[in-house]
Amino acid sequence: MNHIANNLPTAVLQAKDAAHHLHPFTDTKALNEKGTRIIARADGVYLWDTDGNKILDGMAGLWCVNVGYGRKEIIDAAHRQMQELPYYNTFFQTSHPPAIALAEKLSKLAPEHLNHVFFVGSGSEANDTVVRMVRHYWASMGEPSKKIIISRKNGYHGSTMAGASLGGMTAMHAQGGLPIPDINHIDQPYWYGEGGDMSPAEFGIQRAQALEDEIKRVGAENVAAFIAEPIQGAGGVVIPPHTYWPEIQRICKQYNILLVVDEVICGFGRTGNWFGSQTFDIKPDLMPIAKGLSSGYLPIGAVLVSDRVAEGFIENGGDFNHGYTYSAHPVACAAALANLEILENEGIIEKVANETGPYLAEKWMMLADHPLVGEARICGLVGALELSPNKETRAPFAAETGTVGTICRDFCFETGLVMRHVRDSMIISPPLVITKEEIDELVAKAHKALDLTLEAVKAKGLI
Ligand SMILES: *Cc1c(COP(=O)(O)O)cnc(C)c1O
Repeated sequence: MNHIANNLPTAVLQAKDAAHHLHPFTDTKALNEKGTRIIARADGVYLWDTDGNKILDGMAGLWCVNVGYGRKEIIDAAHRQMQELPYYNTFFQTSHPPAIALAEKLSKLAPEHLNHVFFVGSGSEANDTVVRMVRHYWASMGEPSKKIIISRKNGYHGSTMAGASLGGMTAMHAQGGLPIPDINHIDQPYWYGEGGDMSPAEFGIQRAQALEDEIKRVGAENVAAFIAEPIQGAGGVVIPPHTYWPEIQRICKQYNILLVVDEVICGFGRTGNWFGSQTFDIKPDLMPIAKGLSSGYLPIGAVLVSDRVAEGFIENGGDFNHGYTYSAHPVACAAALANLEILENEGIIEKVANETGPYLAEKWMMLADHPLVGEARICGLVGALELSPNKETRAPFAAETGTVGTICRDFCFETGLVMRHVRDSMIISPPLVITKEEIDELVAKAHKALDLTLEAVKAKGLI
């Protein structure tokens, strides 16, 4: 009887949690006063907490449970692999069948010039690997001065020292002495928040050209790479104007800068293609992946590496002094393979592109008519609602940023829906297996939470 029996009352679990468990990205004092919500089990797109409440998971965990909860194929694959070979390393001139199969599979699924895979345990580790790898690549090619990595404000690339440094979250930089050297941040293509009177198309060009300005300022001979998410996820589902990515790619090519496209959220079907790079017609040199790779069933990530970069450092680089104990963990690889098989066999990504994506988009865009919503935007199965007291001016509320978002988030939970807030926007990223009926439920619950939020905001005099 080693499994964690859930026979304790919620209040006891909460007290134990408060006593011993430090949560990520959390004000522990405030949480301990309020008490955590304890999730006990899940199936499909639904969660159940220890009080028996059924909740529709509009965030797929943390943007990761793409094939939904309770998939026996993944569970069985992990179980089988545990019995066969629960662990072996890939450092000392050794490999194992699950790593080999997954590396080959990913090379087939990825855009055709990406045929090499470096395994890691998470998205953050993937981005730490990116920093080491692009600098090692340029040094191997005889250009050791190319070290600077240009990234974006309000981008998210993980929470390790390098991941958080690449990210542009000022609250993260403020703790722990970040960013690390030679990572420079430019402005983001967030039209709703920062576009002012410009058209989205003009604004997209302007924000892409910020990359060119920065390259010129520091000298192309000092720049290794530019990194960005196709759609900024944690930054609030910022979908760039259509003019942005073509201009970014022109600039990277012109100045010989590697393009790193962080696919940790967009990868594995989120935008209606296998990768966000396909949705936005981007040709990356490196692609960090994680989350949807295993649908979150076990922690695993990777960096997909182009032939150009891999051949460069394989030919000229000697040892790459980098790796993790759990790089290519066999059980995680087996789970990822089973997950990819489900995505393929059930045509889930095609459904997102042709059925559920367009269906959700139609309903989601109708929420823009709600008096509290300044903008609705969506791509595939990832979307956001910007809350505002004034649709025309896109004005903020007369309260600290995030106040109204938090109110709405709490009403969502009460209504039986997980929707996350970023600032005063509400975001969704449901499991890709969500059905049309479940989409109806999601949108109805979101609508109800918006109504309740509107009442509360009025009562507080914020609108
Ligand atoms: C979540 C995320 C990461 C970090 O992944 P972890 O597995 O949490 O380390 C990196 N990049 C993006 C775009 C992410 O959304």
